[in-house]
Amino acid sequence: MQIYDHPTFHMACQQFDLVADHLQMPESDRDRVKYPKRAMVVTLPIHCDDGSTKVYTGYRVQHHLSLGPTKGGLRYHPDVMLGEVAALSMWMSWKCALMGLPYGGAKGGVACDPHKMSQTELERLTRRYTQEMIPFIGPQVDIMAPDMGTNERVMAWMMDTYSVHVGSSVPGIVTGKPLVIGGSQGRREATGRGVAYLINRVTDTLGMDISKCTVAVQGYGNVGSITALSLARYGAKITAITDAFGGVHNPRGVDLRRLDEHVAKHWTVKGFPEADPISNEQLLVLPCDILVPAAMERQITETNAAKIKCRILAEGANGPTTPEADRILDQRGDVFVIPDILCNAGGVIVSYFEWVQDLQSFFWGETEVTDKLFRILEGAYTQVLALSRKQNISMRTAALCVGIKRVQEAKQMRGLFP
Ligand code: NAD
Repeated sequence: MQIYDHPTFHMACQQFDLVADHLQMPESDRDRVKYPKRAMVVTLPIHCDDGSTKVYTGYRVQHHLSLGPTKGGLRYHPDVMLGEVAALSMWMSWKCALMGLPYGGAKGGVACDPHKMSQTELERLTRRYTQEMIPFIGPQVDIMAPDMGTNERVMAWMMDTYSVHVGSSVPGIVTGKPLVIGGSQGRREATGRGVAYLINRVTDTLGMDISKCTVAVQGYGNVGSITALSLARYGAKITAITDAFGGVHNPRGVDLRRLDEHVAKHWTVKGFPEADPISNEQLLVLPCDILVPAAMERQITETNAAKIKCRILAEGANGPTTPEADRILDQRGDVFVIPDILCNAGGVIVSYFEWVQDLQSFFWGETEVTDKLFRILEGAYTQVLALSRKQNISMRTAALCVGIKRVQEAKQMRGLFP
């Protein structure tokens, strides 16, 4: 699979191979379960505000179609490449299967820097991307959602472009939309709330008191900011936060309300006056009880894994820990890892609720959404913890075992089309 050549894709494949060995998966099933079903690459010319024309490259990878439509976010980031998107689509597959959702995984992305584009340029790019994807998406085919660099506004433009093409409103084409056009209560908060819920459960499991815990968060976007807020509500103290531009550290605790006011003005946590500056590298090795990477892949590597000083590593981001770092953490045995496909699954769970509500045109209240979210996370956490203890395997291996095995079983049951 040369076309996916990328360190993140190799990492996802390495994880899969380890788990396939553990499951003693027959060779005849392996490539079929592992590799993506479809990949689209599109060129996206748009008019810029200065009158010039710029061409962007967009991607969508649909990993497998055996459990239902594919589901996954759309990322706007300068480093987006096909192989990275393919890896993210694989992780979405294992995540949806682990949570028992009727989806295969998918992911999309456009190589662009949304911070350097105007709202009108972003709208043109989003509409052009959606237009190019129309033959390959649909509420029963492939459903997108926000990821890094995209948000509710972007989902609204996608939904509108698709609906104009069809000739009537199709809210189920995307999730993570604004409430007014068919979004779900609690979707924006879902991923971070889920991360915090699981961290709270793990502190119970480990006999820690969350109100005495200190927390460091890498990334202060949707996932990082809601995780920090939710953990602060459980009583934890947030001592360090970074984003793509810099970071802040205050051992007495960062005042999140005042930090949010600062971010609303400056679009970054950098420069917040009531704390000292801290870099991303420093944050990852800061002494703390809970470390939450909530930004990019491959942040915890063989270089820093031995130096990490947290008790709980809660993976808000997708793929923040490399397999080499996993091996080091496993050997250390003093860091409890909540693996990404479990830890950040709150987003896709409430996306599923949003899709169901859209298909039925019948909407739920926030309490109902949050109760149902926590119930699914609780079931998955209990199952993964039990398997990890029973087979003496890491939480990541246990989570991947459950997800990958379900996909394998679905493919076996459906058989191979002649
Ligand atoms: P976002 O765009 O809202 O926020 C990303 C944050 O990360 C920003 O604060 C950005 O400045 C920071 N960042 C970017 N590059 C960085 C770097 N090199 N070092 C430090 N910080 C950096 O994105 P998001 O939706 O919060 O997604 C964050 C992660 O969570 C991604 O890995 C994404 O795939 C994953 N995720 C998101 C959701 C969701 O519902 N949004 C669900 C599951 C997983």
